[in-house]
Amino acid sequence: MANQNDKVIVITGASSGIGEAAALLLAEQGNQIVLAARREDKLKEIVNKIKSQNGEAIYQVTDVTQIEEVEQLAKLAQDEFGSIDVWINNAGLMPHSEFIKKRIDDWNQMIDVNIKGVLNGIAAGLPYMREQQSGQYINISSVAGHLTHPGGGVYSGTKYAVRAISEALRQEEAQAQSNIRVTIVSPGAIDTELPNSVTDDENKQGIDQMYDAFAVSPERIAKTIAFAINMDEDTAVNEFIVRPTAQQV
Ligand code: NDP
Repeated sequence: MANQNDKVIVITGASSGIGEAAALLLAEQGNQIVLAARREDKLKEIVNKIKSQNGEAIYQVTDVTQIEEVEQLAKLAQDEFGSIDVWINNAGLMPHSEFIKKRIDDWNQMIDVNIKGVLNGIAAGLPYMREQQSGQYINISSVAGHLTHPGGGVYSGTKYAVRAISEALRQEEAQAQSNIRVTIVSPGAIDTELPNSVTDDENKQGIDQMYDAFAVSPERIAKTIAFAINMDEDTAVNEFIVRPTAQQV
């Protein structure tokens, strides 16, 4: 088992926002980071930044909807760094719209990335963690995984799913006595590129206004993730809800 602050940490959706902030903070704390997303230029830039600060990081261009690519990502972490201690299922998108608009491509993409991407991460990483009898999944849900509203039905559905999947995984691993911890992080409005994934103009306007009013830095979620990782190994922080102080719901 890796020492505290010397863990191999796989992060999906690491090319911007929460994933990027987590990669930078966790590398600074002495962990070895494996970054994954689709935009290679961004991944390369972040890895170079980490290396320039004497941190350790590698990346693989990965589409989380493709199980073969996610399995290759797990193999890369194992081959390069010798273990997979933490897997952060963070990749996601939020194209809000009302059902009557029938934006079916958006629905499918959210289901594929926000749900199947998480399942692919579990499928790819879990066998390694079982083998080493230790590990941790950190799955990024949302405040929208606890409540919903008009326009947010499908996004919320995917984020409720992340919580259900995570809780069953936690129970299965406790039953198996595998020492694998499961943590759900449910952020409120965080200042990232996420609003850019909203394709419906009406919804985008409302979301932009809300984010402009009170969204906080993704570094806050990175700190939350680091807290969960740095907790004593016999204890799992199962869930965080983290809102800007000024966010009402
Ligand atoms: P960003 O848009 O900044 O980051 C999303 C990340 O997901 C990017 O790195 C993107 O990289 C990656 N991604 C998207 N699709 C894929 C894919 N098919 N395969 C691999 N990576 C993919 O937003 P956030 O940082 O805010 O989002 C991170 C997570 O946090 C999401 O799950 C989101 O739902 C959740 N969240 C965010 C909140 C917020 O207010 N910001 C609130 C609650 C939850 P690339 O395009 O390079 O593939």
